Amino acid sequence: MPRCPAALTLGTVKPPAFDYRAPRTVDETVRLLSGANGATTLLAGGQSLLPLLNRRRVRPVTLVDLGGVEGLDTVTLEERAVRIGALVRLRALETHAALRDTLPVLHETVRLVAYPQIRTRATFGGSLCHADPAAELPALALALGARLRLRSAAGQRTVDAEEFYRPGGGTALLPGELLTEAELPLHEGHRFRFAEVPRLGQGGFPLVGACAGVSLDPEGTVISARLSAAGAADRPLRLHAAERALTGRALSGLGSVLDAAAHEADPPSDTYGSADYRRALLRTTLRRALEGMRP
Ligand SMILES: Cc1cc2nc3c(=O)[nH]c(=O)nc-3n(C[C@H](O)[C@H](O)[C@H](O)COP(=O)(O)OP(=O)(O)OC[C@H]3O[C@@H](n4cnc5c(N)ncnc54)[C@H](O)[C@@H]3O)c2cc1C
Repeated sequence: MPRCPAALTLGTVKPPAFDYRAPRTVDETVRLLSGANGATTLLAGGQSLLPLLNRRRVRPVTLVDLGGVEGLDTVTLEERAVRIGALVRLRALETHAALRDTLPVLHETVRLVAYPQIRTRATFGGSLCHADPAAELPALALALGARLRLRSAAGQRTVDAEEFYRPGGGTALLPGELLTEAELPLHEGHRFRFAEVPRLGQGGFPLVGACAGVSLDPEGTVISARLSAAGAADRPLRLHAAERALTGRALSGLGSVLDAAAHEADPPSDTYGSADYRRALLRTTLRRALEGMRP
């Protein structure tokens, strides 16, 4: 009997059987997580998890659906920071007028993620926790110095985005932990921009993206710089050497800054492009993000 080519490519397209739980509170959620010996998987918007389940790359004993958990879908604007609940949908961030005025780079970056249909389901917390090295929002979280609140049955801890994304990939989430909120500091006097080259045209994951934030003195000299990259390593990458190269100079003749960024990147080679090509794209995207901020 001939085999269906799609079945050969995808293996199977039905998830294995699992127990489904839909808690209403964070306390109930962490209780479910704590009793499960790591065999529980959290479901947020499902835009990354459901394909993995259908292909049986993930085989949870219990799936805990965060969709009905109260208190995780709020956006709070404070004087020095914006707090975003883990379950806030990307589309809600995109259409939040006050947030757009307060933190324009978030609006600009969210609009680069996937398509409106995906953004209607995908959540801010899901994007941060899925930790795709090429995803836009983890790179943005790094440049902004986001602080991530993690809850478990043992209590709450706060982890800086840079500590959250581990060398080699993955996150600092421990078994039984849930991301509840991200706090994005508002860096007074800084402007941020995000630039990317998508893999497959508008709406696709970036092949490489760069986020840049700078504050300038009245002469146009960089006082402080916060730079990060997507698709440039095995994790979202803060570009410390490029930040040092940029500080104390103008936003022109950026060759040494771009050299520093390309040097600290360690991008993969795959069917979308070689490591050298990605390094070249990092130079291009970082230049675009920085030049977009010239006075
Ligand atoms: C066609 C398509 C195009 C896409 N294009 C892009 C793109 O251009 N850029 C981009 O960045 N992304 C893109 N995505 C990915 C999409 O943005 C992600 O699916 C989304 O970011 C993950 O969020 P989610 O809410 O769907 O998470 P889910 O898929 O529900 O979960 C993802 C992972 O995070 C874990 N998780 C979720 N929430 C929490 C939490 N609160 N605490 C702890 N763990 C949690 C889950 O257990 C799971 O392991 C695309 C997806 C599709 C299907």
